[in-house]
Amino acid sequence: MIGRKYKGLTETEIIMSACRLCPRSCGADRLHGETGVCGVPADIYAGRAMLHHWEEPCISGTAEDGTDGGAGAVFFSGCVLKCVYCQNYELSHIRSSSRTRTRQNTIMSVHDRHSTDSTAGPSDTISHSYHTREITGEGICEDQVSENHLHHEQIGYQIPGKRISVERLAEIFLELQEEGANNIDLVTPTQYIPQIADALRLAGHNLPDDIDVSEKLGNDREISGELRNSDGTNKELTGDGKSSRRPGNHIRNRKLTIPVICNCGGYERVEALRLLDGLVDVYLTDFKYMDHEAARKYSAAADYPERAEEALAEMVRQCPEAVFADNGLIQKGVIVRHLVLPGMVHNSKDTIRYIYRTYGNHVWFSLMNQYTPYAEAAKRFPELNRRVTKREYNAVIDYALSLGVENAYMQEGATQKESFIPSFDGEGI
Ligand code: SF4
Repeated sequence: MIGRKYKGLTETEIIMSACRLCPRSCGADRLHGETGVCGVPADIYAGRAMLHHWEEPCISGTAEDGTDGGAGAVFFSGCVLKCVYCQNYELSHIRSSSRTRTRQNTIMSVHDRHSTDSTAGPSDTISHSYHTREITGEGICEDQVSENHLHHEQIGYQIPGKRISVERLAEIFLELQEEGANNIDLVTPTQYIPQIADALRLAGHNLPDDIDVSEKLGNDREISGELRNSDGTNKELTGDGKSSRRPGNHIRNRKLTIPVICNCGGYERVEALRLLDGLVDVYLTDFKYMDHEAARKYSAAADYPERAEEALAEMVRQCPEAVFADNGLIQKGVIVRHLVLPGMVHNSKDTIRYIYRTYGNHVWFSLMNQYTPYAEAAKRFPELNRRVTKREYNAVIDYALSLGVENAYMQEGATQKESFIPSFDGEGI
């Protein structure tokens, strides 16, 4: 798959030219700047790369075990879900910042971007056409449908984070490894799965030891993040906007050897997850809902339960058993995160029951009580304007134990602190 081209395009470019990476199946031509529900074109945008000490103990490590180097987290911009209670709202919910451009001006702006824009820096404002095909079906809540129709031609808006190339992403992975990260923690990666797969290959992740990385890079330069300008020439961007035509010595002869964790929302397409087969070692996935109405109201994804069931089956197929190192850090496996929502104990019980009855103790649970009532959720849904009570959380934990769940992380005390949320200032990108 690496380096092969079809009609002059890499596989990643082909996927990006009519994107159906996630269940939204927008069909957006992200290669030429169109965006779908996730809000991002084919270029990679990320808000922060850092050592993250607030993930589960087997991921971030613990001081007691001497493993608290932290998860090597990369926070990606955009998201295929629209959860009103999202902790990373600033990075994941990309909204229009201008509704005043004329169609002609905006088209010119898109064209200009592809022909001249190689120096855009952090949070650059770029115009993208907004793709509308098939995104008004089930799964998008009403006000989003309305917004799609309002912006049915071309809009301009600001994408948070920095724009980076595939090569720069591979470098970031290697930098985090050198800083002592326990793993690479890909936060909200779904909308960039092909580019991330390319970066992981570029960083030599999970290559057999007898394959030389530099030789491989020489054979596969097509995967180094080059996307095509509208005039047919290739462009390649680094975090600082400088052009970089080939992988440098800073990538050659180094390999990414720490586990790679796909930390995603659970609303995935099986076909997209298969692009990560053999590259991702651990799936740390949300399973938010078995309640369709809640999925529709709070995440604009009424089909979430079905898509999450299919996705989890594929994740378990790829990583069937959890494997931990002697120091307690996870090396392989699937951990399912479930955030208990206020007034939604029934949803939590249904979710845990489905997963446990399907997979037993082969998958681990992380049952979270850290729901925080942010303004957006509170404004639209008053029932979400409070924290989860101790009684609600205990009811969920007791139910899991009554089923026979043995492998679970639980949260104790006041975990609903905003200090868990990093600043998305582009540091480390
Ligand atoms: S990743 Fe999903 S939401 Fe984004 S353009 Fe592709 S299909 Fe649409």
